[in-house]
Amino acid sequence: MSKPNRVPGYMQSKGNRNRGPIGDREIRYKCSMTNTILDVLRARPGWQEVAGPNVSAQQQQQQQQQGATKGSAVSSTQQGKDKSGSSQNPAPNKEPTNTTTSFKTSNILKAGTVANASFSSPLPARTVDGDWDFFWCDREWLHANYDSMFLQEHQKILHFRNHYELTRKNLMVKNLKRLRKQTEREQGKKEAESFDFFPTTYELPSEYHIFVEEFKRLPGIIWIMKPAAKSQGRGIFLFRKLKDITDWKKGEYQPLTDPNREVPETYVVQRYIENPYLIGGRKFDIRVYVLVVSYNPLKVWLYRGGFGRFSNSRFSLDSIEDTYVHLTNVAVQKTAPDYDPDKGCKWATQQLRQYLAAKHGTEVVRKVFQGIDNIIIKSLHSVQKIIINDKHCFEMYGYDILLDANLKPWLIEINASPSLTASGKEDYDLKYGVLNDVLNVLDLENSRLVGSSTRWFPDDNSRTLGARIMKLHRYIDHDLQMTPIDFEVTRSKVKVT
Ligand code: ADP
Repeated sequence: MSKPNRVPGYMQSKGNRNRGPIGDREIRYKCSMTNTILDVLRARPGWQEVAGPNVSAQQQQQQQQQGATKGSAVSSTQQGKDKSGSSQNPAPNKEPTNTTTSFKTSNILKAGTVANASFSSPLPARTVDGDWDFFWCDREWLHANYDSMFLQEHQKILHFRNHYELTRKNLMVKNLKRLRKQTEREQGKKEAESFDFFPTTYELPSEYHIFVEEFKRLPGIIWIMKPAAKSQGRGIFLFRKLKDITDWKKGEYQPLTDPNREVPETYVVQRYIENPYLIGGRKFDIRVYVLVVSYNPLKVWLYRGGFGRFSNSRFSLDSIEDTYVHLTNVAVQKTAPDYDPDKGCKWATQQLRQYLAAKHGTEVVRKVFQGIDNIIIKSLHSVQKIIINDKHCFEMYGYDILLDANLKPWLIEINASPSLTASGKEDYDLKYGVLNDVLNVLDLENSRLVGSSTRWFPDDNSRTLGARIMKLHRYIDHDLQMTPIDFEVTRSKVKVT
C-alpha cells in the first residue's frame, strides 16, 4: 500500500486517537465544487470520495463516460480555472430556492476519476442521506435539501440553513442595526458607537424615503448602489445626484401596475467611503477567512493569512463611473484592458501588514487588526440568535474589509461562498492552506489537535448571551494558522480580548 500524502499542518494521530465517531474506516466525503477544496479533500489521508447526492446510477454512468479524466496531482485550480467553467457563485441570486436542486458536482465515482456535471433534480422525499460523512455542498443544494434531510450524529455539512441573514447585504445591515440599538438601550450611546464600522446603509425600495431625507441632509457626498443578493461587483454603481438613480428607479421599481411584473430587485444604497487607504495610489480591500463551527455557543476561528485585493487603476473621485477604479473585486479587475495576469491584483495580508508596520509602526497595525477581529465578532453576534444552529453545520466566511485613510476598518460585506478558485500559484497555496486548516479544526478524524499553545473558547455550558461573562474553557491547538478569536460577552457587550 502506498503511503498517504502528508498534509501540511495536519498531525497524524497516534494509537486509538484516530478512532473517531466513525471508527477506523475512511472518511467519506462529497464535494460540489471542482476547485481547490476538491484538491484538499483528495489529499487528505484516509478520506474517500463518494458520488454526488441525488445522482441516479444511470446519471452517474453517463457523467463518468462524459468527463472521465485521470486524476492527477495538477489541479484545475492551479491553472486558475474552474473545470466546470463556472464561477464559485454560479447563481446570480443568493436567495434560497425551494423547488429544485441545481448543483455542480464533481461526481467522483472512484478517487482519481472526475466527471463534471451540472443538472437539476427534483426535491427529494424526506430521506436519510447516510452515505457520506462530510459534504462541501453549495448553498443552493443546502437550501433545497436541508429541510428534508436527517443527518446522522457525526455528519458535517457546509453552511448553516439561513446563512443569508449575514451574507445578504440588506439583512447583514438590518441585523447589525438591531444589535446596535439593543446595545444603546442596554449599554448606552458610547458603547453603541463601537458599531460604527459599517457605512450608513438603506434598503431600497423599502427605505427609499428615509434615504432621500439622509441624502438631502448630506449634500455632495457619494453613494454606492448594490443589488442585495448579487456578487462579484455585478449591478453596482456610484452616484452623486438623486436624478442619477431616477432612471434606475423607473426601470427597477416603479409601482407595479402590471400584476405579472416581477417583484423589484432589492438594493442597498450605502455611503461610499471616499477616502480609502491607498497603496501606490490604488484602493484595496482585505479578504479575511473566518470559520464558525458553532453559533451556540459562538465558536469562531480566524485565518491569519488572507489577501488584499487591489484595483487596477489609480484612485480618483473624478471618474465615479469607472469600476476599475472603485471596485476591488477580482472578477471586475481582471477584465481591465491593462490587467496583467502574471502580476495579478493581490497582496498577501502578511505583506500588507509589513507595509503598514513599516509606515505606521507595529502598534498601529495591531490595532487595525484588532479592529477587524472586533468587526467579525460583533457581526456574528448580531445573528447569533437568528441563525439556525445545527451541530452538523459549519461555515467558512470571506469577510471584505476596507481601510480608510485613517486606517479605520470598514465592513463591506460577508460572503458564505468566498471564491476558492485560484488565480495563480500563490493564491492556490493560500486557499489550500485555509481549507486544510478548516478540516484540521473540524477534525473529523477526531485526532484531537495537540500542541503547545493554549486557546480559550466561551464555555459550552453558557447557553445564553445574557450571561454576565461567559466562562472560558480550554482548547488546545497546534500548528494551525487558524486561531480562535477570544472574546467576552457581557449582556449585549462583546469585547475581543
Ligand atoms: P459584491 O458582493 O458584488 O462583491 P461588495 O459590497 O463587496 O459587492 O462591493 C464590491 C466592491 O465595491 C468592494 O469590494 C469595494 O471595493 C467596493 N465597495 C463596496 N461598497 C463600498 C463602500 N461603501 N465604499 C467604498 N467602496 C465600496
